[in-house]
Amino acid sequence: MSDLRELYQELIVDHSKRPRNFGKLEGANRQAVGFNPLCGDRIIVYLKMKDGRVEDARFEGAGCAISTASASLMTEKSKGKTLQEAEALFDLFHHLVTGTETAATAEEQMEQLGKLAVFAGVSEFPVRVKCATLPWHTFRTALRGADEVVSTE
Ligand code: ZN
Repeated sequence: MSDLRELYQELIVDHSKRPRNFGKLEGANRQAVGFNPLCGDRIIVYLKMKDGRVEDARFEGAGCAISTASASLMTEKSKGKTLQEAEALFDLFHHLVTGTETAATAEEQMEQLGKLAVFAGVSEFPVRVKCATLPWHTFRTALRGADEVVSTE
């Protein structure tokens, strides 16, 4: 288990230092801003929705290692997902980091979450839960938003 934990930590460190999908998304048609006053994390999530799917996802902002890594892995994982799949992913992730029960078995959860399972340890640190979930709440807000063309000004 300790090897696994080390691997998990490495993945979080890697994604916090070299976040994937970082920067403004040209052609985004959804966006939302999130702020976590407890830690000072700020994030903007950009989505390009097409035919009911997340065609592209990027983010900008400044936050701690946990929130940055969470946003990085989230944008990777959410690409290509339908609206319903993305909402289901949000729920699974939320259950994972808050340590609450879900109808899915542990195997099903891990299979669907993939690399996102690295955040399971966060449930032991209540203060960090908000850091991990901030990108996801922002993502969901963007996902449910109206189809608006984002101003590039
Ligand atoms: Zn944070």
